[in-house]
Amino acid sequence: MVKNVSILGSTGSIGRQSLDIIDNLKIPVCALTAGSNVEMMAQQCRKYRPQLAVMATREAAEALQKALSDVPVEISWGEEGLLRAATMPQVDCVITAVVGMVGLKPTLAAIRAKKRIGLANKETLVCAGELVMAEAKKYEAEIIPVDSEHSAIFQCLMGMHHKREIKKIILTCSGGPFFGKSREELQDITKADALRHPNWKMGAKITIDCATLMNKGLEVIEAMRLYDLPLSQVDVVIHRQSIVHSLVEFTDGAMMAQMGSPDMRLPIQLAMTYPERLPCPVEPLDLTACGSLSFCKPDTQAFPCLELARVCAQKGGTACPVMNGANEEAVALYLQDKIGFYDIYRLVKLAVDTVPFIQNPTLEEILEADRLARQAVRNAM
Ligand code: NDP
Ligand code: MG
Repeated sequence: MVKNVSILGSTGSIGRQSLDIIDNLKIPVCALTAGSNVEMMAQQCRKYRPQLAVMATREAAEALQKALSDVPVEISWGEEGLLRAATMPQVDCVITAVVGMVGLKPTLAAIRAKKRIGLANKETLVCAGELVMAEAKKYEAEIIPVDSEHSAIFQCLMGMHHKREIKKIILTCSGGPFFGKSREELQDITKADALRHPNWKMGAKITIDCATLMNKGLEVIEAMRLYDLPLSQVDVVIHRQSIVHSLVEFTDGAMMAQMGSPDMRLPIQLAMTYPERLPCPVEPLDLTACGSLSFCKPDTQAFPCLELARVCAQKGGTACPVMNGANEEAVALYLQDKIGFYDIYRLVKLAVDTVPFIQNPTLEEILEADRLARQAVRNAM
């Protein structure tokens, strides 16, 4: 089990659930970071007494300083603060639970400082997965996926040493709140409908990604990078109940699946206790109560983002960071009621089609591709 943890994005959905697990495992917290939620960060600092607390902006950091004038905690802000939280010498595990590309540099820094990464921040692997995985190998840093599907695959592969024995990874997908609806029926979908996920309670950005199925597209790329597999070996099936968290099919046709209650705290805890398994505060799965389990193909007509992500995954290079950056920007616009549901796909596709493509980008070129993609979306507005 790890000994000292930093949580990047502690005020978010994954961040708060990580703190629940910290309560369970009683591991000291060295650093917490957040965007703008000063009030929640102040509460967390009072309870967990980290050495370092980081906010996204100087203003938020100053407000936190005021709120914590009686608490001995160092307060920092911005990228520099995030990098410090990711690399503190006494920390051996960094949970990356920030949302979006902002997680990339701190994840790389934590890898180079040889920390174990509990990786929730999938955008990092989508944008720069090849680079991140190469650095992890070079610095012998463990990356333990927190995303439920990838944790499931990780668990199915625990103790397996030959990659050649994997025929396929099969990611399960709940189908989101609009499963079964046609493209016509989805034209005028409201933000409130899109924010209502049937099985999981998550941050706003990933909840919209689940409604468009872009989340599953991001996860296909995440799986390719984590397990070094080509697109042809990563499939997606719709599984409405979110009980089977994903599967591996082996060369002999055997399939292994990981099942459990839909609760992120199990994969979060495993990232901290691996290779051990310890009791976890998750509701146990009652097989006799979960009814029948169903599997079917995704509808890529109604949910074109999944297919777009597969095209970008196949293309590689800057196609993935462009798609991701454009998606982050478009989802933010959708959450501000500035665009409609299918405009997300339209704008992401436009960015993918127009931003210049580079086959083997450096980190700087990835960051530039992200910037250009966001700009392309804003310009198209
Ligand atoms: P939330 O939106 O709930 O939380 C995001 C966290 O990041 C918050 O702490 C937020 O701070 C912080 N943050 C936001 N913007 C910035 C910024 N610019 N700089 C620094 N910090 C920032 O997201 P989730 O917890 O849902 O998701 C986090 C990551 O985990 C995502 O990459 C998501 O795809 C992935 N994931 C999430 C799952 C889930 O169940 N939620 C499941 C699988 C993966 P503040 O609160 O102050 O805004
Ligand atoms: Mg997932």
